[in-house]
Amino acid sequence: MKLASYWHDTAPAFAGGHAGPVEGRYDVAVIGAGFTGLNAARKLARQGVKVAVLDAAHVGAGGSGRNGGHLNNGVAHGYGDAKAHLGAERAKALYQAYDRSIDMIEDVIAEEGIACDFRRSGKLKLASKPSHVAGLQANQELIAREVDPDTAWLDRADLAGEIGSQAFHGAALFRKSAMMHMGKYLTGLADASQRHGATIWENTPVTGRRKTRDGWELETPRGRLAANTVIAATGAYSAQVPGAPLGHFRKRIISMASFIIATRPLTEAEVAATMPGNRTCVTSLNVGNYFRLSPDNRLILGGRARFSAVSDQRSDAKSGEFLRAAMEGIFPHLSGIEIDYCWGGLVGLTTDRFPRAGEADGMIYGMGYSGHGAQLSTLLGQVLADLAMGRRDTNPLDGMDWPAVPALNGKPWFLPLAGMWFRLKDRLS
Ligand SMILES: Cc1cc2nc3c(=O)[nH]c(=O)nc-3n(C[C@H](O)[C@H](O)[C@H](O)COP(=O)(O)OP(=O)(O)OC[C@H]3O[C@@H](n4cnc5c(N)ncnc54)[C@H](O)[C@@H]3O)c2cc1C
Repeated sequence: MKLASYWHDTAPAFAGGHAGPVEGRYDVAVIGAGFTGLNAARKLARQGVKVAVLDAAHVGAGGSGRNGGHLNNGVAHGYGDAKAHLGAERAKALYQAYDRSIDMIEDVIAEEGIACDFRRSGKLKLASKPSHVAGLQANQELIAREVDPDTAWLDRADLAGEIGSQAFHGAALFRKSAMMHMGKYLTGLADASQRHGATIWENTPVTGRRKTRDGWELETPRGRLAANTVIAATGAYSAQVPGAPLGHFRKRIISMASFIIATRPLTEAEVAATMPGNRTCVTSLNVGNYFRLSPDNRLILGGRARFSAVSDQRSDAKSGEFLRAAMEGIFPHLSGIEIDYCWGGLVGLTTDRFPRAGEADGMIYGMGYSGHGAQLSTLLGQVLADLAMGRRDTNPLDGMDWPAVPALNGKPWFLPLAGMWFRLKDRLS
C-alpha cells in the first residue's frame, strides 16, 4: 500500500516550476497553487496581467491534490438550512454558483485541452438510517421546487441498479454532479497558467509580507518579490508555514483532517456488484463516508476517520484501518480486498460551513470551502481574479461577515470534542 494520494501518483507531474530566485515586480502575487490559486492565476495571465504564484510545497500539495474527486453540485447543507442562515436570495445564488462552477470546469477543460476524465456522473446522497429518509426527501423536494429540477428521490428498491449495498434506505439523486481526475486537472491548470505567462514557484513558502509605497513585498527563503496585489489561496493550509503573513485566516479557518483509501482496480464483475450506477456517493451521517470509482475502477472511499488536524503518514495509515472497516460495512463482498493507496489532507472549515471570499488584511482571499470546494474553487479562483482587477459583482459571497473563532490561531484544540458531539448525534438520529 502506498501512503500517497492516488491523484498525485497517477497524474503527469507539473514540470514547469520556476527554478530561479524569487525576484521582480508583479501586478498580482498568488499564495497557494491549488485550484483556487491556479484558477485566479490562469484568468489573470490570460488577460495580460503579470502574475506570480508561490507554493510552499508543490502544485496541488494541499486539498486540491488530496480530495475524494467529487464535483458535487449545489450546497452541501440542507437547502432549507442554507435559506434560514443566508436568506432565500443568497442561498439560491450560492446553490447556483456551485452548479456554475462545474460548468466552468468543463469550459476550462475545453479551452485548455485538459484530458482529465471529466464525467457528469450524478451524485447520490444516501440515507444511512431509516430515520434520515424523511428529511433527505423533503430537502430534495424543496430543491427541485426552488432551484434544481434536475434532482429526484430514489426509494430503497430503486437503489439496486445504483449501488451494490444493503446499507442504505433511499437516496436523493443530483444529476448535475460530476467527477474527474483531480491530479490531471491540476497539472493541466498549472501548465495552462504558465503558458499564458504566469510564473510559478514551487517549494517556496511565503514567510513574510511588508507594505511598500505602491503595494507589497513578499518574503520567501528564495528571495523577495514586489506585487501591487496579493491573493491568499491557502485554505486549510494557512497555518502550515510558521510565521506566514496569514494570521487573519488562521483565526478563522478550522483545519481538520480527512482521509481516503483506494482499492486495487475492481474487475468488471466487482464493479457491477459494487457501483453499477458509477456515481459519486455521500452518506447522510455526520461522521459518514464519500466514495466513487476512479477512472481505472478502484473504489476511492473517504471519511472523517478521526477528528484531528493532523494528516501525516502515521495518522493516515491508522485512519486507513477505520476506513477499511467502514468500506467493508457498506460493501461486505469487498472484505479483505487489497488497498493500494491511503492518504489524508486538511479541509478548511468555517463555523457555519459556508465559504468566504473578499478582501481583508490587505489581501484578496477565497477559502473555507468546508470539504466541498473541488468545484467551487474554479469559480472562486476566477472571482478572485475579478477582484484583483477591481470587479466585485461576480462574487456570490460578497459582503458576508466572517468573525474570528474565539481562541483559534491555527490549532483547533476543540476538534476531539466536536467529534464526540457529531458521533453522539449520529447515534441518536
Ligand atoms: C481528504 C479530502 C477530501 C476532499 N474531498 C472533496 C470532494 O470530494 N469534493 C469536494 O468538493 N471537495 C473536497 N475536498 C475539499 C477540496 O479539496 C478543497 O476545498 C479545495 O481543493 C481547496 O482548494 P484551494 O486551492 O483553495 O486550497 P489547497 O488546494 O489546499 O491549496 C492551498 C495551497 O496553499 C499552499 N500554502 C499554504 N501556506 C503557504 C505559504 N505561506 N506560502 C506558500 N504556499 C502556501 C499549500 O502548500 C497548498 O498547496 C476534500 C479535501 C480533502 C483534504
